[in-house]
Amino acid sequence: MNGGGGAAGLAALRVFVDRPELKGPNAPWEIHAFEARKDIGGMWMNEDPGESVVYSGYDDPVPPTPLYNSLTTMGPHPIMAFHDFLFPPSTSLFPPASHVLDYLRAYADHFDLRRHIRFLTSVESLRWNTEISKWELIAVEGDKDKRPVKGLYDAMIFANGSYRKPRLPSIPGIGEWEGTGRKFTHAVSYREPSPFRGLNVLVVGAGPTGMDISNELTQTARVVYRSAPGASRTDEGAILMRGRVIALHPEDNRVDYEDGTSDTGIEHIIFATGYTFSFPSMEGLVPDANPPSGLSTSHIYPLARHIFPLRDYSPRTLAFVGLPTLLVPFPTFEDQSQAIATIFLNGDKLDRAAEEAKISERYNILHKRSKSKLSYIAEQWHRFRHGDPELEDQFEYRRELLALAGKKGWEVQSWEAQVWGDTPVMRKEWAKLVKSGVSEDWVRGVGEKGVGEWVELMHKVVQHAKQQH
Ligand SMILES: Cc1cc2nc3c(=O)[nH]c(=O)nc-3n(C[C@H](O)[C@H](O)[C@H](O)COP(=O)(O)OP(=O)(O)OC[C@H]3O[C@@H](n4cnc5c(N)ncnc54)[C@H](O)[C@@H]3O)c2cc1C
Repeated sequence: MNGGGGAAGLAALRVFVDRPELKGPNAPWEIHAFEARKDIGGMWMNEDPGESVVYSGYDDPVPPTPLYNSLTTMGPHPIMAFHDFLFPPSTSLFPPASHVLDYLRAYADHFDLRRHIRFLTSVESLRWNTEISKWELIAVEGDKDKRPVKGLYDAMIFANGSYRKPRLPSIPGIGEWEGTGRKFTHAVSYREPSPFRGLNVLVVGAGPTGMDISNELTQTARVVYRSAPGASRTDEGAILMRGRVIALHPEDNRVDYEDGTSDTGIEHIIFATGYTFSFPSMEGLVPDANPPSGLSTSHIYPLARHIFPLRDYSPRTLAFVGLPTLLVPFPTFEDQSQAIATIFLNGDKLDRAAEEAKISERYNILHKRSKSKLSYIAEQWHRFRHGDPELEDQFEYRRELLALAGKKGWEVQSWEAQVWGDTPVMRKEWAKLVKSGVSEDWVRGVGEKGVGEWVELMHKVVQHAKQQH
């Protein structure tokens, strides 16, 4: 497995070590995971000062995590949790990253997963050797003194994460923007607000990361602007909202927006504009085609269930965990891994014609919406949109994966969809309860008698928010 220390890799390991067919002396495979960093945690593990992780294939060094110091979870932890493995009782509903890190490590220890992971080992290249029907893996191991590692594998799982390679929008003038007194960075390297003291900062991005960063910058920056497509020029508290940025003019420090307005004097721009997929170790293996086929910077096509290749490789030998976005990741990783274990054992269980039909259907819906902009299809390909009546729903997706795997005993609970829909309201309300110092009282002892208590608490928080407005 390429990447073993993040949530996706751990989920896959748990499923593979737990499946009865894969246990004991007659198990068909040994399971090896390669993790570039020194320990478990993936993006939830802070970067150490001086940590140098070499991810092959990047033009510039990239931070090993986009974690900023103040990050609390985007979703409430009861919905984030893996199957049958809740966060400890009394955990804050939206805990800081350090709690998620502890949780992932507790999960790894509970299922005894560390013994399968080779840490400080970065996968450099993978090649399918058709003569021997095996993956040839080349990796480098070690912190300072690097040693080459080689291996032959029957099947390969990619669990290397999607939040590492920054996506920068192609805005006219961006190439010339950096200069004396002017800088731009990406959210991947944002850690805390003190370096921005006294500056005029523009945060570009409509998502929760852009929101978190701009809110936090109000503590130190002189002026904070936030740009989001479609936003009108208004003040939201201390944040000056702006529409989409359409051009940068370094000659007079000017930023133009879609509504025809401009700002001057902006000293630092932080792009919270997401990430591009990167599978450096696979380069050269997947046809480098433009969207919508092949491998683009935002999707891989065509994959059955966002997991299994339908062309070029056999679904019995290659799978991806963790490509879908805008859904609850951890349990989805486990459900995907259940399907992977099943298909690696018996590829006939994948009905290729039905899978092709599903892909065509999704393609046609997105194509209709794309107004012939093929990059739109690529960007939307792995995104799940809550409440979209035409496209597959994340909870249905997971139910289908479990059905494909024939996995009994794991259910997608009916409350999950409700909680997912309520999450933005709940997160805002929880922040208020934290600020007013009462959040610890709200969670004290909750979870000791199981998940039902968490569901009740989340309902209470939403009701509280409604009563306040
Ligand atoms: C700012 C932000 C906030 C988020 N908040 C939440 C949240 O609140 N709740 C939630 O559930 N999800 C959240 N997510 C989504 C998050 O991505 C998932 O929770 C999850 O942690 C992703 O796990 P992963 O294993 O796919 O990736 P990662 O955590 O990135 O792990 C991938 C691992 O693969 C390793 N790796 C990569 N390349 C190689 C290589 N070539 N060789 C060896 N090892 C390699 C990396 O070192 C890393 O340890 C958030 C994401 C971001 C960016």
